[in-house]
Amino acid sequence: MAESIQEILKQIIGQISSQVQIEHIIEDKPVPSLRRAAPAVQKTGADITTINRNSLTPKTRFPEPEIQPEADLKPESSPTVITPKISVRTQKAAALATAVPEVALPPEMEALRSKVSTCEKCSLCQTRHNVVFGVGNPRAELVFVGEAPGEDEDIQGVPFVGRAGQLLTQMVEEPRSLGIKRSDVYICNVLKCRPPENRNPESHEIECCEPYLKLQLELIKPKVICTLGKFASQTLLKSQTPISQLRGKWFEYEGIPLLPSFHPSYLLRNASAKKESWQDMLALRNKIDELRDRPD
Ligand code: SF4
Repeated sequence: MAESIQEILKQIIGQISSQVQIEHIIEDKPVPSLRRAAPAVQKTGADITTINRNSLTPKTRFPEPEIQPEADLKPESSPTVITPKISVRTQKAAALATAVPEVALPPEMEALRSKVSTCEKCSLCQTRHNVVFGVGNPRAELVFVGEAPGEDEDIQGVPFVGRAGQLLTQMVEEPRSLGIKRSDVYICNVLKCRPPENRNPESHEIECCEPYLKLQLELIKPKVICTLGKFASQTLLKSQTPISQLRGKWFEYEGIPLLPSFHPSYLLRNASAKKESWQDMLALRNKIDELRDRPD
C-alpha cells in the first residue's frame, strides 16, 4: 500500500516538473535547471577583454606556451664561419681600385682589351688572377708604361694600385709637379700578367706581350710617353743601357717623345731618388705644354 502511494506521489511531482519546464520553454523563459548549469564566467556577464587574468581559476587561464630550454633551441652543430683573411694593404688597394672610374673604351681598344683578357701566349696565364690591361683616358696626352703587375694589381686587375701606384698617383696629381688627374693619363705595363713572386720578366714573356703594348700606344696616340724603370725603358727603346743612364733623357718611340724615369717601387726603397723623379715630372709637364703650343 505504502509503495503504491509513493509511486502516485512520484508521478504527480514528475508531471508538475515537466509542466513547469514546458511553460518556461513556450514563454521563452530560461529553464531553471539550464540557468544553474551556466559556467561561472557567463554568469557574471564579464567582457573577456576586461577579465583580469589572475582572477581566473586555473582551469580557465590561457595555456602557457611551452618554452624549451635554451640548449634545446640551438642547432645540433653550428656551421663553421670562415672569415677570409685580407691584408690591410690589399683592402687599401681594393678601395683605390674601386675609386678608379670605369671609362667606356673606343671600339678598337675594347676589342684589344677583350682579346688580351683571354690571352694564353705565355705561361703567366696559368698563375695570374686577372689580366691587367691598362687604365685611364684612352685618348690621353701622356702614357706611363711600367714593367708588370704586382700582387695588388693582379688581385684587382688594375695597374699601379699598390703602394707604388699610390706614389705615382701623388706625383702625377701634385699641382707643383704634373698637376694632372690620374684618370686623365693612361697607365699600363709591358706585361699584362703578374710574374710569380714578382720576379723579373723573362725575355720570351716580353716578346709575347709587347705587341699588345705597341697596339695600345698606336690607338691612344699620346703626345708623350714616360717609361717607369729598367724593363719598360729598355723594351721600348730596344736598349740594354742601365736605367741610371737612360733616366731623365729624351728619346723617341715611333716618333713620340719618350722620357725614362725611375719605377715608383724603386723610389719607395730609395727615397733619395725621388728628387730626380720630381724633376722628370716637371720635364713631362713642360714637354706636353710645348707640344700643345706647337701648331700641327
Ligand atoms: S703576359 Fe701577356 S702574353 Fe703572357 S699570357 Fe699574359 S697577356 Fe698573354
